[in-house]
Amino acid sequence: MSADTPSLHLVCPHCHAVNRLPSARLPEGPACGQCHQALLTGKPLDLTVDIAEKHISRNELPVVVDFWAPWCGPCRMMTPAFAQAAAEMPGIRFAKINTQVETTLGQRFGIRSIPTLILFVGGREIQRQAGAMDAVSIQRWIAQGLSQAGL
Ligand SMILES: [Zn+2]
Repeated sequence: MSADTPSLHLVCPHCHAVNRLPSARLPEGPACGQCHQALLTGKPLDLTVDIAEKHISRNELPVVVDFWAPWCGPCRMMTPAFAQAAAEMPGIRFAKINTQVETTLGQRFGIRSIPTLILFVGGREIQRQAGAMDAVSIQRWIAQGLSQAGL
């Protein structure tokens, strides 16, 4: 790899190792150098307090996090829509934080109502949205956020 080959860091959703790989390899479905499982799964990843910071700040893919709780009806309604959006946007890391279990994360990100989606790029919050959305709206919301951020 030459020095000017664009590359990015990707946190493995399985073993949480930070991988560095050429951006051009992303569409090939790259595997983790450590655990050899797929780095891009197209499925939402559950984040706990131990790994949330790493995934939000070290991933160089945009990260969208769904803050939810099992008792919340609209959250459960949005679950399949979020999973569908994840399957259709493999270049975005989709993650979920159960605020009932991970109360410190809910507080840290100032979550006042659920569901709330937050879009992070390079660890920076780009935008947030409270309330349930369907899969098309989630994808449109992400695309708008990225374009407003100049990405
Ligand atoms: Zn791994």
